[in-house]
Amino acid sequence: MDNLLSSPQVDIKEFLRPVLFGLAEEDLDELSQAAVVRPFPGGAVICEEGASGDVVYIIVRGRVEIVKRMDDGSERHLYEGVPGEIFGEMAILQEGIRTATVRAVGPVTVLEIDREPFLTVLGRSPSLGVRILVRLTARLRDADQQAISELQRANEALTRALRQLERLDRTKSDFLQVAAHELRTPVAALMGYTQMMQSSPSVQRVPELEVLVEGIVTSTERLHRIFNSILDVSRVMAGGLEIHRTPVSIPVTFQSVRSKFEQSLEERGLTLELKGLRDLPFYPGDPEMLYKVFYHLVNNAIKYTPDEGRITVIGRMVEVPDLGPCIEVAVEDTGIGIAPGDLELVFETFYRAEDVGFHSSGRTSFKGGGPGLGLAITRGVVQAHGGRIWGESPGYDEEACPGSQFVVQLPLV
Ligand code: ADP
Repeated sequence: MDNLLSSPQVDIKEFLRPVLFGLAEEDLDELSQAAVVRPFPGGAVICEEGASGDVVYIIVRGRVEIVKRMDDGSERHLYEGVPGEIFGEMAILQEGIRTATVRAVGPVTVLEIDREPFLTVLGRSPSLGVRILVRLTARLRDADQQAISELQRANEALTRALRQLERLDRTKSDFLQVAAHELRTPVAALMGYTQMMQSSPSVQRVPELEVLVEGIVTSTERLHRIFNSILDVSRVMAGGLEIHRTPVSIPVTFQSVRSKFEQSLEERGLTLELKGLRDLPFYPGDPEMLYKVFYHLVNNAIKYTPDEGRITVIGRMVEVPDLGPCIEVAVEDTGIGIAPGDLELVFETFYRAEDVGFHSSGRTSFKGGGPGLGLAITRGVVQAHGGRIWGESPGYDEEACPGSQFVVQLPLV
């Protein structure tokens, strides 16, 4: 083959004979007459992805690499061609464009055969057709295998990343739980001492001191509430909410919630109306946890409703397709409402629909601050009871105040 270029036609025919074995003598003659010997230096592009192609190539000497451009601009190596191999036939058969780029790996010599003679011989020679078919099938199979291996590798990498994320997530909720637990104890002590100071006559005698102590009491109570919420949410996140079921009276639970907020309701001129709760049966649930659900819902209704607004709690029995008979409690308000895109997001931990900067620090003041944990805890508790909770609102509008309602359904087990 080294003297290929010295007596081209004879040598090309002799080169093609074993490569395309089974071809009739006249077909070999026709192809070798149509073939042009073409040398390429290493790294040269022999045919380019996206270009139209009307020649087919057979490698005489050297090796080529076939690569494909990916969407991210990188190149994917498909396979390597060695002497005797045909490439570029796909574009000819499909009358289309090149689907890959072929590049010389070191110096390469190829035979170029035009589309017309190649198709004519192909039409006459079933053996050439079968040969090409076998080669294409093998290539497709290789590509399949390669894609499957890549998918497997990507899948393994994703699984590893997921495991790591799960581990980190566990570490995060463990940290939250331990930190909140450890910090809650000294804060509880601080709260006790400052309350004692508040009732001490020596403090009560000095009005300036009284104001200062009042400030410390309010702040430590707030800290205590936040640590409690962090503890609750870390349990929800870790899936470790323990439910101790006993018969719970929903109207009594709401009375406790109301008395907790009595002063704030009065200060803000808000009315809290309870409807239908007395007709509900006792619910087999965790009283402390259910108190938290309704506490957070009423607290939010107070926080996001301007002064003089109305909060209505409606209880009723409903039959829910997947849950069976349920106690349903809806907490409605005449507040600022929630944008449709936020109705699900508000249940995420630490999520606030608005800018954090808008929040003041009061527990029940209008748009008063909160760490964004209430609804995450609420959903966790409701789901631990096998129930569901969702929010509804015509939209967010601080002027028109279209209101929101949060609906809780708890199945009677
Ligand atoms: P936060 O401590 O911030 O109140 P929540 O988890 O209880 O946290 O609520 C998340 C966000 O959902 C709130 O910051 C608020 O933007 C929105 N939200 C909750 N309840 C209401 C409501 N009744 N009306 C309007 N917005 C609400």
